[in-house]
Amino acid sequence: MKDRWKHLRKDLFRSVEPRVELVLMSEPQGRFKKLLTTETAPGYTARASHESKGTTKDDIRLNKFLIKRGHHTPLEAVAFTFHVDGITKSLQNQWVRHRIGVGWTYRSTRTISADQNEFVYCTYDYIPDELKVITLLREDEESAKEAIARFKRKRELGATKQDSRKIMPVFWNTPCHFYCNARSLRYLFALRLKKDAEWEIRRMSRIMWEIVMKETPSLFEDFTDLIRRED
Ligand SMILES: Cc1cc2nc3c(=O)[nH]c(=O)nc-3n(C[C@H](O)[C@H](O)[C@H](O)COP(=O)(O)OP(=O)(O)OC[C@H]3O[C@@H](n4cnc5c(N)ncnc54)[C@H](O)[C@@H]3O)c2cc1C
Repeated sequence: MKDRWKHLRKDLFRSVEPRVELVLMSEPQGRFKKLLTTETAPGYTARASHESKGTTKDDIRLNKFLIKRGHHTPLEAVAFTFHVDGITKSLQNQWVRHRIGVGWTYRSTRTISADQNEFVYCTYDYIPDELKVITLLREDEESAKEAIARFKRKRELGATKQDSRKIMPVFWNTPCHFYCNARSLRYLFALRLKKDAEWEIRRMSRIMWEIVMKETPSLFEDFTDLIRRED
């Protein structure tokens, strides 16, 4: 994805960029360590249906076959946990609309004081004029600074953390751990890698896709065409 104004965000007030890290991934246990890998787990476990025998290479082929045919249950064999940082409250609101096979633990500003907040600034990629982008980012920066100052004033006047945070603009950073499996992650990618998805959730999905492509490519490589087409 393009990000031609990234350099303009670097020195803005408490500016953070998106960062996605893989924390955990399913692994075979005991005697199964010799029979399968994380990536081949869907194909390997699906072979129970025909009691068929095969190598890990066969299982990779079977993974692709299962995906093509829509036999997606065995993809649930592979679970992932990600740490995601540098995403806005506004992204969170879209993301938690997904209900099936997904979960989160988010930083809570009911407990952590929101005057610690960082901010995720817009890319404004669609604006060709650099001066306009600088002006827009200044506007955003002002509202971030003002929000922190107002939060502190509300606290001094006796408001709780949870009531004081309500004046925050929705671009405050909301890091989390995200739990999913390969099936639910494919569902997320199918909706959120597309160009009609909101740019920030699309950007995060893209980073996540690049990570899982390194670990379990046969489970996600069919999105390559979609990404090329929509870039
Ligand atoms: C480009 C885009 C624009 C959007 N714009 C808006 C918007 O303007 N306003 C808005 O409110 N939302 C919007 N959404 C969110 C959207 O409406 C869904 O809430 C979001 O995609 C997650 O829900 P889901 O059903 O797709 O996924 P999940 O809830 O994770 O469900 C996954 C799948 O499981 C099945 N499933 C889930 N629950 C049930 C059930 N109760 N009964 C039967 N089957 C079930 C369905 O097959 C479903 O597709 C948008 C989403 C996208 C991708």
